[in-house]
Amino acid sequence: MIIKGYDTDEIKENFDKVRSLISEAAAKSPNGKPPILLAATKTVPVEVINYAAEHFGLTDIGENRVQELMEKYDSLDPRLRVHFIGNLQKNKVKYLIGRTVLIHSVDNTALAAEISRRSLATGIVTDVLVEVNIADEASKSGVSPNEALAFAESLSQFEGIRVRGFMTMAPAGSSDEEYHKYFKKTYRIFIDFSAKKSDNIIEPVLSMGMSDSFIAATEEGSTIVRIGTALFGKRRYDI
Ligand SMILES: *Cc1c(COP(=O)(O)O)cnc(C)c1O
Repeated sequence: MIIKGYDTDEIKENFDKVRSLISEAAAKSPNGKPPILLAATKTVPVEVINYAAEHFGLTDIGENRVQELMEKYDSLDPRLRVHFIGNLQKNKVKYLIGRTVLIHSVDNTALAAEISRRSLATGIVTDVLVEVNIADEASKSGVSPNEALAFAESLSQFEGIRVRGFMTMAPAGSSDEEYHKYFKKTYRIFIDFSAKKSDNIIEPVLSMGMSDSFIAATEEGSTIVRIGTALFGKRRYDI
């Protein structure tokens, strides 16, 4: 079937292939289990997303622009867990509170404070991840790997958020060896963080791996992979 120009047979094949590669890679993961498959759905029409939820067992999606998320939100299959995975400005936080199960991209105290304040005002606690700029790239958001653990711990002052772990985006176009190096490094930060939170019964989260890196990320201990292109094909900005 074709929905809005997307071939559902092709998408089904993509889901099958990605899932089988993930379960193969998970055999090597220190977590001993496969990561959650989160579909990165920027530019993907809501009809296609809902079809994947209904027919391919899609459970988690991530949007990276607040406006696009808001345009889609009311039409999304209500069973979908919606994550926010993009850069977030303080003035847009209010739109996400109560709509997202996890915000993957907290990298400054002012943003954390605003998420906390808005969450408390709504009577909820919002789960967040600290974004780590694992290669210390000048152009990228995220906290430096040296500061990530201390920054994550400093957020315990905010009662309206709960830091679940870390998210990273390795430099695009890295070699397989480099991907392994960056993800291994992020996994170490995650393990240090988890060890210090041993009193916490809630499972820690490590969000890493995209279309070109999810096998390496899974092998290095990712608990959520964020995949767009490998599921839906090249992004189309014309519809
Ligand atoms: C788009 C996006 C992805 C998925 O990228 P692909 O290369 O298409 O798999 C993952 N994470 C974030 C934050 C994104 O914006």
